[in-house]
Formats: sequence, C-alpha cells, structure tokens
Amino acid sequence: MELFNAAVVIVSSSCFSHTSEDRTGPVIADYLESRDWNTTIDIVDDDKAMIQELVRRLTADTATAPNLIVLSGGTGFTKKDVTPEAVKPLFDKEAPGIVHAMLSHSFGITPYAICSRPVAGVLNETLIVTIPGSPKGATENLDAIIDKLKHILNQLRVDSARELHKPSDHPSSEVKHSGHSHEHSHKHSHQHSHEHSHQHSHEHSHEHSHGVKLHLLSNALNGPVAQRARKSPYPMVSVLQALDYIDRFTPKPSVIKKKLTDDDITGYVLAQDVFARVNVPDFNASIVDGYAVIHSDCPGTFPVVSVSHAAPGETKRIQSGTVVRVTTGAPIPLGTTAVIPVEETEVDKETADGEEVEVKILAMNVVEGDNIRKLGSDISKGALALPKGSRISRLGGEMGLLVSIGVLEVEVYAKPVIGVLSTGDELVDLSQSSEVPLKYGQIYDTNRPLLSQLFQGYDYKVVDFGISHDTLGKLAETVESAFERVDYFITTGGVSMGETDLLKPFIERHLGGTIHFGRVAMKPGKPTTFATFPPDHKFANKAIFALPGNPASASVTSNLFVLPSLMKFSGIANTTRSTVDVILNQDAKLDPRPEYQRVHISRQGDKLVADSTGFQRSSCVGSIAGANGLLVLPSSKDVPSGKLLKGSRAQAIIIDIL
Ligand code: AMP
Ligand code: MG
Repeated sequence: MELFNAAVVIVSSSCFSHTSEDRTGPVIADYLESRDWNTTIDIVDDDKAMIQELVRRLTADTATAPNLIVLSGGTGFTKKDVTPEAVKPLFDKEAPGIVHAMLSHSFGITPYAICSRPVAGVLNETLIVTIPGSPKGATENLDAIIDKLKHILNQLRVDSARELHKPSDHPSSEVKHSGHSHEHSHKHSHQHSHEHSHQHSHEHSHEHSHGVKLHLLSNALNGPVAQRARKSPYPMVSVLQALDYIDRFTPKPSVIKKKLTDDDITGYVLAQDVFARVNVPDFNASIVDGYAVIHSDCPGTFPVVSVSHAAPGETKRIQSGTVVRVTTGAPIPLGTTAVIPVEETEVDKETADGEEVEVKILAMNVVEGDNIRKLGSDISKGALALPKGSRISRLGGEMGLLVSIGVLEVEVYAKPVIGVLSTGDELVDLSQSSEVPLKYGQIYDTNRPLLSQLFQGYDYKVVDFGISHDTLGKLAETVESAFERVDYFITTGGVSMGETDLLKPFIERHLGGTIHFGRVAMKPGKPTTFATFPPDHKFANKAIFALPGNPASASVTSNLFVLPSLMKFSGIANTTRSTVDVILNQDAKLDPRPEYQRVHISRQGDKLVADSTGFQRSSCVGSIAGANGLLVLPSSKDVPSGKLLKGSRAQAIIIDIL
C-alpha cells in the first residue's frame, strides 16, 4: 500500500494558547490514518505570519515535505479568520477544482456552506487545502475530495501526465519520501512509528501529553550542521503569553508538614487555615502598670491588699473598697473590673520602709473594663488566625502569630528545590581554578553563582550541578541523575542558534519534555525556553527553564519568568511582579523588541527616578550590579519617535528594595 504523508495544521488561537483542547486535529488524523495516510498535527495561532512560517517550514525541504497540508480553521468571515489569506500567496498553482468539489458537496448539506472561504493550491510538490475548523465541517469537506487526492498527488511529482501511464520506469509505489521507511501501524490510534534512515530531517513527531502528535521543532542533533534550521522554528511569543504559559504549566504545589523551628521555615506558604489553639490572652490581663479596682468604688482612697506581677499564679478575689497593685500583662485579680494607671494615683500612706499602704485613685468616670485585655480579646480560641495562602515571611510576623496561638507544626506547600547548571565549553569554575590569566577563549562561569544567590535570596534551596560541556553525552549524564533530586532545572547557555546549542533538542528529543515556548519577544532573553513533562513521564511535576547564556539575559529572565514560576510552585497565589511608575533620568533608544533595562530606582522628592546602571548589552554583568528595577521599555514599533526622552514616564519592575 502506498503511503502518503499529511500535515494537519490546526489554526486556532484558543487551541494554540491552550485555552481549549484541540478536538478537530485528532478527528482529521483518524480520518486520514484510517485511509492509510501518515499524519502529524501542528497547532498555530490565527496569525498570518505564523501560519505562513509553518507552511514554509513544512515544505522547505522537498525530501521531507508532506504530500498534503490540511489547514483546519480560520476560513470564515470573522476578523480573525485569515487562513486563506495566509496560504494563498504561497501557492505556485491554484487548485479551484478542489475548492469547487468541497463547496458543492457542502451546499448539498447546508446552505451555510456560503460562509466558508476555502482555498487550495500547490507549493513545490505539496498540495495545500483549507477546510473548516469544526470536526463535522472538516470531515465533510474531506469526504468531498479524499478519493481524488492521491490522483492529484501522483500528478504533482511527475513532469508530464504521460509519465503517469508509463508501465514500469516510474517507481510508482514509492512516494517522494523514498529516503524514509515508514512503518505504519494501521491502527486508528495516533501512534505512528517513524524509522528514519534519512538523517537530515529536523521535523520529527512525538506523542504529546493528550495523545496528539506535535512536530518537534528542535534540530535533530545527528544531522550535519549545514542541514539545520537557520532560523529558530519556535513561534515568537510575547512576554505576557510566556507568563501565561508559565502560569498554566507550572507544576502543581504539593503539601508537606513543617515545624516552625525548622531553620528553612522562611518562605513557606500555608496549605491550611490555621486556627488558634488557645485564647490570646488566655486570662484577663492588665494593659498598664497600676491598680486593679472595682470600677464603681472609684474615685477614693483604698488599702493596697496585694500585688500581681506578670507571672503565672492564682489571684485572690478582692473585697469592695480594696485595690491590688498590678504590672503590665499581669493577670487581673478576681472581682476587679478595671485598672487605674499608676500616673492617675497618689500614695496616701506608706510604711516606714517605703511599702504602699493606701493609694488615692484620682481617676474620675472609671468604666468597667478600663485597661483590661479581656481573655481572648486579641484572638479567641478556635478563631482563624492565619488563612491558607499566607506566606511565612522573613519579618517574623507570621512566626510570632503562630507561636502565640500555640501552633508549632503547619501544613505548607513544598518549596521547590532548584538545580542550577551552566553549559559551555568556554566556562571556568572560579572556585576550582582562580588562576589568571584565563586561556584565550575562556570565561568565568558567572551565571551559576549569580542565579544561585538570586534564588537563595528568595529562600529557595539550590543544588549546584556545576558546568556541563557542550555535548549531548555530558548533558545527559548530568541532567538524568541530577533531575531526580530537584523540582526545577535551570540551565544557562546553549539555547541560541549555534551548533553547540543543545538544550532545546535535548529537552524535546532526549528527555521527552514539552517545550511551551522557545522564543520570546523581548530584549534581552529572546531564546528563553520553558518546558515541562507529560503526566505519565518520570519527570512529571518538574520544570525546566533553559535560559540564555549571557548573564544579563539570564538574570532578567530569571526575575521575569523563573521567580513567578517558583512562587506559584510554592503556593503563592499572586505571582505578578510589582511595578512602579518611574521617571527616566536619561534618554532611552527603543528596540523593536520590548526591552528590560537594568536601572537603579531612587526617590527624588515625590517621584521615583530610574537611572540606568550602565552599558545594557546582554553580556554586560555590570548592569545587574546595583540594579533594583527593570525598566520596561516599549517596542519602537509602538513609539513613532523610536525613543523615550529624559523625563518621560515608564513602568519598572521592582526586583530589590528601593
Ligand atoms: P550561548 O547561549 O551558550 O550561546 O551563550 C551566549 C553567550 O553567553 C556566550 O558569549 C557565552 O560565552 C556566554 N555565557 C554562556 N554561559 C555563561 C556563563 N555561565 N557565564 C558567563 N557567560 C556565559
Ligand atoms: Mg554555549
């Protein structure tokens, strides 16, 4: 049986942003696979450029291009429907017959076929067809053309129709992917086994967590350098989209028990409401130093019959017409109803050795309860003292409260353990070899110490995994064993476009991770990569951030992306970084990408002023020193003059105390 390859492209912003599940892709894949097509599924946004980029990439190499690309969705009349407009300019030839067949078939089913705007055509040797986005509309349209598609595909790869009828000199049982030997399972599942004898492809498929095959966008590392993608195939996402992915795919917090006496208690977030085990105070206590009285006796002169200090012990009930001297925090003697501050009294009679015998209460209008902290008046036993979600800060407030209500052990969310790894053959560990000079081409590994301190500063435990060389073997060796011990793996380097940039292929192809984004529209930090693992994976509930190698990029992206993820993992509900309005203290030239400049923010009068910390190139570590803010500069595309002048207002993310 002749095998053809189809790439199904789901065009849907909600599926692309993971706000809804793609149901049409699997239906089309089943449909085609049951008719002996090999299929893969990609999901793209309703975005002309992204659709075009994918179609171009799929068809770029005729040796690996699919025979058919079916784009489902975005063919209607709403503003976001742009699929026909995206693909039509790419056609070498149009295929109006296919369009006609689909429309006339659809009109036989519903007059609303008028709302569909299908296009079909050929690019290189690939047939491209657009169909509706609903499973029903998609299959109806495929019904209209499926029987004739293979006939068209056979025509596409020959020079003239005559060749099709030659009996033996054309290898008609071989499709153009003759280099691949596909073993098709003939099952209706989406499992398909690929055996590539052809090593050049950088387009593989793998099973995604929900059973849909997605294209692996990373380079295959076993092919020659010249064959690799020269532009990053990862869709460029905005910073907000990246944060959204992080929010949705950050592993879920887990609950553990912690004692307040544990020395790493700072930073844990309560996973339970905590209720008071005792009343605070647990007795009626005096608020001042003075005399406990029966309020209705006052004013007057009274014998001092006893003394009550702030100490445990029984207090005797007193008689009307007598008072007891009390200190702040002391239990109030039974029978007394108010405390008169010492300042509102005079000694009336004393013993020879200076002991009080009688005092005169000067206070007028003494009211019952004056200067008494009643039992349970701060917190009553059983009341909610600290709600779930409260973070045990380094300031002692939560610690103090919990201890005061008699709670020593609490349920909290586990804090992430973070493995930090630097990658690069050029890196030297200063702590191992502090000799100078460095060899030509060497640099000190700056990122690992920098990031370790950053995460520790937020009370997270860091495990140092050292430096890995730029080979797959070394990386695999370090990561496989190390990952068992941590929740997060933060790597730096190896995510740009060089041939030693292994991280993305390593995550996708070696570890079987899912890369949620691999390119972000920002400066610095463009190649920032975030990945997690499918639910049945041994690393499910762990996450990887593969950060760019330049220290300023690694620092900025850690502040912007890694910390919110760590916070979410540790149970913090609102992980949005705080921003303030600042006034620029110098002109800023804008980049097409939104930029995050390192600044020092200080108060000048009633304003916060942002001073650049110096040279902002992403390699320049100096710009991180002294920075307490990240100035958020808009894209030059949004500001006609392309710059912000000194005195302009902008937003800055606070990364340290102001
Ligand atoms: P890469 O992302 O590996 O291409 O690295 C980009 C740049 O960052 C190169 O100039 C690297 O030498 C530099 N770099 C990578 N890792 C580190 C590190 N740990 N410390 C300092 N610079 C680094
Ligand atoms: Mg490198």
